[in-house]
Amino acid sequence: MEPPDLLARARSRSSDPDDPLEILSSAISLSTELSDDADAVLDLAVREARDAGASWTAIGERFGFSRQAARKRFTPPFAGKTLENRRKKRDAACSFCRQRPGPRVHMVHGEAGRICDKCVALAGEIVADLAKRR
Ligand SMILES: [Zn+2]
Repeated sequence: MEPPDLLARARSRSSDPDDPLEILSSAISLSTELSDDADAVLDLAVREARDAGASWTAIGERFGFSRQAARKRFTPPFAGKTLENRRKKRDAACSFCRQRPGPRVHMVHGEAGRICDKCVALAGEIVADLAKRR
């Protein structure tokens, strides 16, 4: 999509299509969404290449950077086996059941810890039971 088309899209999404600053705010949001999408398409293409057996060296060459840089850019955090990474992984676990975050494990983060979606559901049931007993 060409920049004038994108600007038209930002204008149509702005709260006031006649206010240039509202259009700018809308363009900023749109720009963030587009760069997130651009990152996501690269992540997906890299994952597919890795799944198909491509090496980090070959992937890095396509981007014009080193194997280490390719791996660092596209390997999810906590994937390494260093002590620091193990500690980060442990610290990212649910404070109640120690379940670690993952694609199907959603976490709610608080100041002193975090809780996974399963524990949130269980806590909801417990609170509902307690309320019934009153
Ligand atoms: Zn949990």
